[in-house]
Amino acid sequence: MKGIVTKAVGGFFFPADSNQKIYQTKVRGKIKDKIYPGDLVEFTDGVIERLYQRKNLLFRPSIANVDQVLIMLAMDQPAFDRRLLDRFLLMVEDMRLKPLIIINKMELSMNKSPVEGFEDYFQAGYKIYFISVKEKKGLDILGKTLDEHVNVLTGPSGVGKSSLINEMTDAKLAVAELSPKLKRGVHTTRHVELLPVNKGGWLADTPGFTSLSIKHIKHQELRYFFPEFSDYLDKCQFRGCSHTHEPGCAVKDAVSNGLLSRDRYKSYQLFYEEINK
Ligand code: GDP
Ligand code: ZN
Repeated sequence: MKGIVTKAVGGFFFPADSNQKIYQTKVRGKIKDKIYPGDLVEFTDGVIERLYQRKNLLFRPSIANVDQVLIMLAMDQPAFDRRLLDRFLLMVEDMRLKPLIIINKMELSMNKSPVEGFEDYFQAGYKIYFISVKEKKGLDILGKTLDEHVNVLTGPSGVGKSSLINEMTDAKLAVAELSPKLKRGVHTTRHVELLPVNKGGWLADTPGFTSLSIKHIKHQELRYFFPEFSDYLDKCQFRGCSHTHEPGCAVKDAVSNGLLSRDRYKSYQLFYEEINK
């Protein structure tokens, strides 16, 4: 039988079949590779016989074959922070994974249309899901995109990640009642588990990436992690233009002409300074 490993605990592995039925297995000695949640395996009679090649492996938490990273922020409480969203997007682009944006607590929005102010992200080709876990709005549409995929949720604390996981799966994670700080320590030394989403697909029960450092990213690469820049990159006057100070820069021109978002370009400049190499 072919299955996807949902968790690894104490030498046992728990692969699920295509109906999300979970089995307890051990691994045959000839498999030397470490097996992680998300790995695809072949198993019979409680023994994993084969580990399929994985397409990627996320670290901290270790999850194999990640299809999508859901970047979650809140409309408010904590206040929506574009720079932080851009940082998360950059990190996911750097991992060559597909980011989806989720904006929670949309019932707190002051705008008539929640989409207002997010045009830059649509222009960059990102999908945004506006939801309210509290009012159970937008969850069906979001649920459909999780189908058949291994999904990891990330985002700053307090935006409702645990609440969303509890809503989409049978998990019962601790939700911060007052300050998100109270929840600290709950996640320590837990095993990662892929939880079956009620409508299909898998959602990791632990928020992804603890470090928000981008210092390892190279100046040369940064430009490719802003997908909306791609049409302009080879139109600059100078080859190897850094798109920061050079004359005849097509990216800067596009910003001046309103073709590219001033705010996203601001993030590019700030990140360029921050990575400093
Ligand atoms: P996490 O730190 O990202 O895991 O966030 P939690 O799931 O612990 O939620 C933080 C706080 O936001 C809790 O008090 C939740 O009850 C609250 N919360 C979650 N979803 C919503 C929502 O849609 N609207 C509002 N107003 N509050 C929410
Ligand atoms: Zn340029």
